Amino acid sequence: MEHLKSVHNRLGSLQLRTILKHYLHYSINTNNMAPKKDTGKTPYQGKKRAFGNFKCPKCNRTWSSANSWANMGQECKTCRINVYPYHQEELKPGNTSYNQEQHPEHLCEKCKQLGHSCKN
Ligand SMILES: [Zn+2]
Ligand SMILES: [Zn+2]
Repeated sequence: MEHLKSVHNRLGSLQLRTILKHYLHYSINTNNMAPKKDTGKTPYQGKKRAFGNFKCPKCNRTWSSANSWANMGQECKTCRINVYPYHQEELKPGNTSYNQEQHPEHLCEKCKQLGHSCKN
């Protein structure tokens, strides 16, 4: 009986080690495979202009803009703090109504970075 027990124990720890090895192997692999956690500040990470919904965390004012960009925010015109969009979606191609939008360049991080309106 004693003998059987020790065999069983040895088997048990061997199995554990195998599982552990597999687990480590797996986690190392997934670490390598996983894309670098990007420092995305906005939901949209594409290159194009997007439609964004903004909400100022300070005054709770909400606004939307068809000139919102990946990792770019717009200033709340009341609080003058930069706010990143909480929701973004790609502009539908062919919809030109977005171009009619008044775009406050002095509040838009992208415009400021470009030095001109990001609409053009
Ligand atoms: Zn505000
Ligand atoms: Zn802009």
